[in-house]
Amino acid sequence: MQENTAIPIISQSKNQTVGPVFKFGGTSMGSIERIEHVADLCLKLKPSAIVVSAMSGETNRLISLANKILERIDVPEYDMLVASGEQVSVSLLSLALRKRGIAPMPMLAPTAGILTDAQFSRANILQVKGEAIKEALDKGLLPVIAGFQGVTEDGQLTSLGRGGSDTSAVAIAAGIGAKECIIYTDVDGVFTTDPRICSAARIIRKINYEEMLEMASQGSKVLHIRSVQLAAKWGIRLVVKNTFSNDEGTEMSTIDEPIEGEIVSGIAASQNEAWIQATCANTPQFNLSNVFDLLAKKGINVDIINQGEHNSSLKISFTITQTDSNLAMETLKKEFPNISLTLREDVAKISIVGVGMRTHAGVAARMFKTLANNGIEILLVTTSEIKVGCLILRDKVSLAVNALHEEFIPKT
Ligand code: ASP
Ligand code: MG
Repeated sequence: MQENTAIPIISQSKNQTVGPVFKFGGTSMGSIERIEHVADLCLKLKPSAIVVSAMSGETNRLISLANKILERIDVPEYDMLVASGEQVSVSLLSLALRKRGIAPMPMLAPTAGILTDAQFSRANILQVKGEAIKEALDKGLLPVIAGFQGVTEDGQLTSLGRGGSDTSAVAIAAGIGAKECIIYTDVDGVFTTDPRICSAARIIRKINYEEMLEMASQGSKVLHIRSVQLAAKWGIRLVVKNTFSNDEGTEMSTIDEPIEGEIVSGIAASQNEAWIQATCANTPQFNLSNVFDLLAKKGINVDIINQGEHNSSLKISFTITQTDSNLAMETLKKEFPNISLTLREDVAKISIVGVGMRTHAGVAARMFKTLANNGIEILLVTTSEIKVGCLILRDKVSLAVNALHEEFIPKT
């Protein structure tokens, strides 16, 4: 986990309790009908503030427009474009609320005071100045705030990276002193694994923040990773629920033992993986510290790292997200002209996650055996206290997920 969670958020709460922040994702904003439904829900449940994503498909559409002209994502015009989808959602939901007699306060990031660094397309929230939102609350207005966007110190609009509006919602909750943040989405909660891959997948009712963090960072796409980090850090009760059903959803909790007596709580598969193998003969500067320093300066998060030898020169092998693969390859080539690089994108990472692993031995061995029994080759391995992850070939993901679910997750 490389994200800095030490975000100095100013809480403006003056002892009065601030109700929950609701966040609605792209599917919930996907049509006028759905937006009207969301407005009805807010009328009934009375959140303190609402954070919204762009209508589903809209961010993709905007990105593809930009790509037709120039494939650069590290420039301010990219962020200004992709963050515009959220502005539409803010306006439409505000209109729907107004129609129902609720006075909305529509807010984009600069008005709401969501300050970020200037890493375009992947900005980090530095601070949420809660004043403007609190002022709106004091006036009895309901803030409707654009997720996914922020503003730099000198006023440039930024975007937080795909899926970032979850993080906006949690940061805003922290910024106004709310104790709870409910992420409304199009699924009933967090599943033991991706139900599209494994029909035995089921909802996890309570999941530990750390487990959720591992699930999210290992590829479970329900929540943006940083939102979970922030919620854990700021003690915000985070719940994932379906906008269109009455299911109670999944609640993140700080309970640090297997919640349902299970060693493994979930299985995550990440298909957005790129595997780079690099060697560089007779180049002392080619070492772990320089290579990863270089990548870090470009904002590239490295996941699994392996160091070895190849024909008596150093071989460094690592995984990153596919999104970063071009940037990483170019950066390395530029710095080390005689580097030899291979890039593989036909890989995926499959991970088992559970706090129960802290107290149970032999979990990794069981995973390796299950994969071996199914003829699945393991290319790289990564472990933490509560996770074992394996890089495998992408065409084996479905087989691996189903086999591991069968092995580790009891049927209820
Ligand atoms: N609209 C943005 C995206 O599609 C942010 C989000 O939905 O959380 O990535
Ligand atoms: Mg999302």
